[in-house]
Amino acid sequence: MMKFLSAAGLRAVAAGALTGAALMTGGGAFASAEQADPLADFLTKYVAWAETIEAEGQERGTPLTADQLELAEAVGIRHPEKVRLVYADAVPFPVEDPEMRAVGESMGFIGPGVINNAQAFGYTIWIRNGFTMDRPALAHELVHVMQIERSASFGAYAREYVPQLLEHGHSNMPLEVEAYEANRKFNFSRYFRRGLLHLESMRLDEAIADFTRAHELDPDDEWTLANRGGAYAAMNERDLAEKDFAAVEKLDADNPIMLGGRAFLHMQAEEFPQAVTMLDRLLEIDPQDYWALRARSDAYLELGEEEKSSADNDLAYKLEEQDGSDVGQVLPSR
Ligand SMILES: [Zn+2]
Repeated sequence: MMKFLSAAGLRAVAAGALTGAALMTGGGAFASAEQADPLADFLTKYVAWAETIEAEGQERGTPLTADQLELAEAVGIRHPEKVRLVYADAVPFPVEDPEMRAVGESMGFIGPGVINNAQAFGYTIWIRNGFTMDRPALAHELVHVMQIERSASFGAYAREYVPQLLEHGHSNMPLEVEAYEANRKFNFSRYFRRGLLHLESMRLDEAIADFTRAHELDPDDEWTLANRGGAYAAMNERDLAEKDFAAVEKLDADNPIMLGGRAFLHMQAEEFPQAVTMLDRLLEIDPQDYWALRARSDAYLELGEEEKSSADNDLAYKLEEQDGSDVGQVLPSR
């Protein structure tokens, strides 16, 4: 479930958590709840009702697109082909039943200021009309589908979800933390991949902006920093590039983008011996790196080592002919 809570909604949830806790302790331990336990009674009714919603959604929902199926697989769903997206004016809740409504309000599921944008009921994900289901938001709901799939049943999931909600609140409960992790991860890859496209087209300012956002979402990702450093290097912003490359080196001393970027900076500054050192390391990792061979050939030529220069150049030429791959890359990318 992904919710937007206004201040009023947050108060409702806080009040609900208190009521819920009172319900739990008041009715005895949740596991040994008897019929008199209003929460257990609520869950039994809710789960039975949710089965009808799942059935309805299976009938009128739309299957995932090829792209969305891939995302569902990445999230870990065993049967992505069963997933259906169902749009409705509101995500359903059994509001017709006054008792259900009261408990729902006390738990913050429904009520003033609470907007439920999307919710999984099994393989159906119900989405409020007007809510933009982007990739990170869909990843979040797909995690809930996966959680339901790995539970014995929707009922088992609901009996795990609701006590967690009452104990920790929406944003700290383990099942939601796991789902929000998917938002973060797929938000990250959106910025990272777009940054690479910008970099390949030499739209350097845009590339740096996207890598910066990706870096904020995952500060320990070496490839984000390496490629941002590459973009700075291509802009001749040496200090900024070096700063990123130094951070990369701490994470992975053999990162090829970082080594290539540093070689590039040395070449630009006509520091040819240092450039050769970097390119040697790069070629140790990948002896068939055309870009590195060409660059080292240029560096040797500047150093007056003509034999070594032509050897690298010939090898680059030969590899290029074998492969037919392009050698026009300015900076290697991931
Ligand atoms: Zn959620």
